[in-house]
Amino acid sequence: MNNTNNEAIREKTQEDILKEKVQTNQDMAERLKENMANIKHKILVLSNKGGVGKSTVSVNLSCFLADKGYKVGLLDADLHGPSIVKMFGLEGRHLTGSDGLMDPLEVRKNLTAVSMASLIESPDTPLVWRGPLKGVAIKQLLAEVNWGKLDFLIIDSPPGTGDEPLSICQLIPELDGGVIVTTPQEIALTDSRKCISFLREVNIPILGIIENMSGFQCPHCGAKIDLFKAGGGEKAAQDFKVPFLGKIPLDIELVSSGDQGEPFMCNNRQGKVRTAFEQIVQSILDQLS
Ligand code: ADP
Repeated sequence: MNNTNNEAIREKTQEDILKEKVQTNQDMAERLKENMANIKHKILVLSNKGGVGKSTVSVNLSCFLADKGYKVGLLDADLHGPSIVKMFGLEGRHLTGSDGLMDPLEVRKNLTAVSMASLIESPDTPLVWRGPLKGVAIKQLLAEVNWGKLDFLIIDSPPGTGDEPLSICQLIPELDGGVIVTTPQEIALTDSRKCISFLREVNIPILGIIENMSGFQCPHCGAKIDLFKAGGGEKAAQDFKVPFLGKIPLDIELVSSGDQGEPFMCNNRQGKVRTAFEQIVQSILDQLS
């Protein structure tokens, strides 16, 4: 074989690879469209910083909706610090599937979940992602998972307004809206403003703001203590003219239930936290109907 033939073979191979890539992208785009068409409502839960209770809100919102009889899927899109697996007690369970599609993990009746943590070998493995790869990973989690027919897909976004929420908003432009989680301090104003500007920029409706860790009731004397001040989230909602969904109090049981892998709203626990979630879910359902 002479050099000209070798060149032709090499060129053809590169062309084939390119064609395959284009085909794979088209297939994935098609599957994404099909998957999303099977899901009635898609909600993005976001916050400007970590530790404000975004994942806690996502898992409890999902549990409550599932208990109400809705079919719910929860996508943990926090690629760096996936915590949904821990909060649902799904550690050690890995995603399986066939024909290039993965099945989501069954959490309980009406509720399935997918997290990057279910794809890695050990929970201690740090995940290192470059920007463009994050978009690809999120696209795969949306398109290459057998989500099936759902009433709700709740997407727990990582903190901030970076690559992940941007990818989600671009991949699912028909998102029903964003739920912003913040804390009661004055900084909530700045934090919420960033999330609101982001959602407005990408044309995604704002379902409202949740003020989490809002007030603590002493289990001994019953006195209410505003550990992180009060009303920051509510004021932010008023100032930016977006719905205020409700206040979730600081509650020790929310911490322990999350750590034990049995979210508060998955058990029939009563109290102020339940009342808060009932109000929040009702407000969201009212807006969606
Ligand atoms: P984020 O997703 O914003 O990083 P998490 O949901 O992981 O935050 O919550 C951070 C920690 O705060 C967890 O240990 C969680 O149990 C706790 N937490 C969240 N909300 C509350 C609350 N209302 N009362 C008490 N602890 C809470």
